[in-house]
Amino acid sequence: MVYLDYNASTPVDHRVLPTVAEVLSEYGNPASAQHRAGQSAGELIEVARIRVGSLLQRPVQDVVFTSGATEAAVLGLVGATLGACHRPNVVVSAVEHKAVLAAAELGAHLSGGEVRKVRVDSAGRIDLMHLDSLVDDSVSVVAIMAANNETGVLSPVEGAAATAQRVGALVFVDATQFVGKSELQPVANLADLMVFSSHKIYGPKGAGALIASRHIQKVLTPLSAGGGQERGLRGGTHNTPSIVGFGLAAELAMTEQKKDSDRIAVLANEFLVTLKERLPGIEMNGDGADRLTNTLNLRFIGADAEAVMASMPTIQVSAGSACQSAVSTPSHVLLAMGRSATEASESLRISLGRPTTRDEIRIAADAIVSAVVRVRELTAA
Ligand code: PLP
Repeated sequence: MVYLDYNASTPVDHRVLPTVAEVLSEYGNPASAQHRAGQSAGELIEVARIRVGSLLQRPVQDVVFTSGATEAAVLGLVGATLGACHRPNVVVSAVEHKAVLAAAELGAHLSGGEVRKVRVDSAGRIDLMHLDSLVDDSVSVVAIMAANNETGVLSPVEGAAATAQRVGALVFVDATQFVGKSELQPVANLADLMVFSSHKIYGPKGAGALIASRHIQKVLTPLSAGGGQERGLRGGTHNTPSIVGFGLAAELAMTEQKKDSDRIAVLANEFLVTLKERLPGIEMNGDGADRLTNTLNLRFIGADAEAVMASMPTIQVSAGSACQSAVSTPSHVLLAMGRSATEASESLRISLGRPTTRDEIRIAADAIVSAVVRVRELTAA
């Protein structure tokens, strides 16, 4: 088996796993401050908060733990929209993850507003002029993802933030694919609201964070009230083992990011060169744009991506974003980039990660070449 779907999820790093396993056997509730078991669980959460804050170079009190990026997006986007009723509209890029699109729809719907979508060009780059024309003082939040999960295309967060700030709208950045793969500044400092997830940076599933200053946190409407955890913004018992693992993974991301992305860039480039040498009719979605080095979204002309995947069951890649792949609808990201439904259905996302080796790349390239040739022959027959 070769796993090349790291944008969908990453394995827990072997340096994180032992501590997570140890914490699983500790049963104190971090909210039970009256006894030692609870206090020690609470201390573990606070250490993780320090680690996540330092990764982003943000104060520790800016970190609000959630169950993942989806929940953080709901808290950030719906919470901010509800807290600003005289500004019911939300602006998002057309290529945001479904989690952000759905949260924006919900926030706008509950506030009686609308979602305005910013166009992208054929390389997936956000059209800043269009963004500028959509932003006015009825807009509470402008949501721009730092890096796209399907194509790896990076967004002009600085330009989008300048436009949002002009009218006093909050800047929401989905950094789920960006954290651990790119230099985090200045993006982390430009965002009023930023979300990301443990299971994309070699931490356990079930933990994520919303990053917002204390001042912004005060304008958010809490959506999961109750126990008062996370300063009343996210009630519910903390997932201590996952949050501890998230903190350790964040610490590793800080030290490994540059090394990982340099190494992965070399492998991804070799992989692409090999495929192009051996197969005609390959197009890269996002070509020409600044992109994450680990993500290759490739169209194999005349070969249906799902048929290609079925033809190479030992190579694990994605024919669209993981959250969408249960439903076979064309990727909204590729459609927004002007691809037809057929072109989108011929596109495969290959994403490399920290454990990826040159051997795996060679095995995957062989398998993809054979599978594409086979599918093209069957289609032509
Ligand atoms: N945003 C982006 C860009 C993603 O890639 C994902 C997951 O695929 C999410 C949000 C949702 O993250 P989570 O799985 O932590 O809810």
